[in-house]
Amino acid sequence: MKTLLEEVHNGTLPGTPALARLIAAGTAAADLRARAAALARAETERSFGDGVFIRGLIEVTNHCRNDCYYCGIRRSNRAADRYRLTKERALACCAEGHALGFRTFVLQGGEDAHFTDGVLADWIRAIKSAHPDCALTLSLGERSRESYAALFAAGADRYLLRHETADGAHYAKLHPAGLTLESRLRSLRDLREIGFQTGCGFMVGSPGQTPETLAEDLRFLSEFRPAMGGIGPFIPHADTPFADEPAGSVEQTLFLLSLVRILLPGVLLPATTALGSLAADGRERGILAGANIVMPNLSPRDVREKYMLYNNKLSSAAEAAENLADLERRLQGIGRRIVVSRGDAH
Ligand code: SAH
Repeated sequence: MKTLLEEVHNGTLPGTPALARLIAAGTAAADLRARAAALARAETERSFGDGVFIRGLIEVTNHCRNDCYYCGIRRSNRAADRYRLTKERALACCAEGHALGFRTFVLQGGEDAHFTDGVLADWIRAIKSAHPDCALTLSLGERSRESYAALFAAGADRYLLRHETADGAHYAKLHPAGLTLESRLRSLRDLREIGFQTGCGFMVGSPGQTPETLAEDLRFLSEFRPAMGGIGPFIPHADTPFADEPAGSVEQTLFLLSLVRILLPGVLLPATTALGSLAADGRERGILAGANIVMPNLSPRDVREKYMLYNNKLSSAAEAAENLADLERRLQGIGRRIVVSRGDAH
């Protein structure tokens, strides 16, 4: 298996069966994970030194037209307490974040019809004119190509849209009819052609996932070559069809982070909130496995509990933007430091 890992490191992606075997082996064996993490860490340091970029995550709405089986803010969840920020509140989050040292803001939310192109363009222009030194990332799901073009023209820099799984049959197990992998991938290609720094990614341990589907995810990443990756464990939410499904494993997530870093040395790769929610030291372990970004929560305090994608989602302690000193201390403990910069892809 070490030989297969070296092959990936040298730039050749093995066929799906071999790659699936490598993923299964790394999930089971700590020494293989440690070897992958060491290779990944060396690549991270070569690309980014000891710097970790921070992104202020602002959860703008938990209204959603979609009904993804895994997600706590899916349309059918009657127990979700719905909210939507006003532009003024979002601007106040950005001002607070800027004072703390954030130079990237991420607006994330469900697919909420309130956020027309006109509304979003107005928000984007307001945020960019208040903070011209900052990058603005959007994570608002699938929209038309024309819509993405309008948001880019208004000044948005980056767009995160996880592909969720690169296997069409698996995609259909995670989403209701009407949501297709084909449409997701079309959006990703549109975003990149329009000029966005584009991010894709997947959950680890989602129901029905196998080493083979994960191998397809890696193949997709190595072909699409995204500027950003989003990879975190699946965690069940009690008010979804997947309530009784087991969570993904921390170890498998770490191994995949390492493989992604080895495949795409310059990719911007967060140690996700989901990883931090599953293990107290998940964020640090993610960075030691090859991640180079953390995205603390910059949403208004009173809505954080409401943007509940999965149960026990962290939004306090080092996960909260206002506790940056706590995060800084944890990062120092693993030989890293927070960089105050936009942290663009290169
Ligand atoms: N509506 C936007 C933002 C979705 S939330 C979009 O469609 O892109 C961001 C990510 O959270 C999703 O892409 C998904 O991968 C992840 N997520 C949703 N539910 C989750 C769960 N139960 N466990 C772990 N991650 C989850």
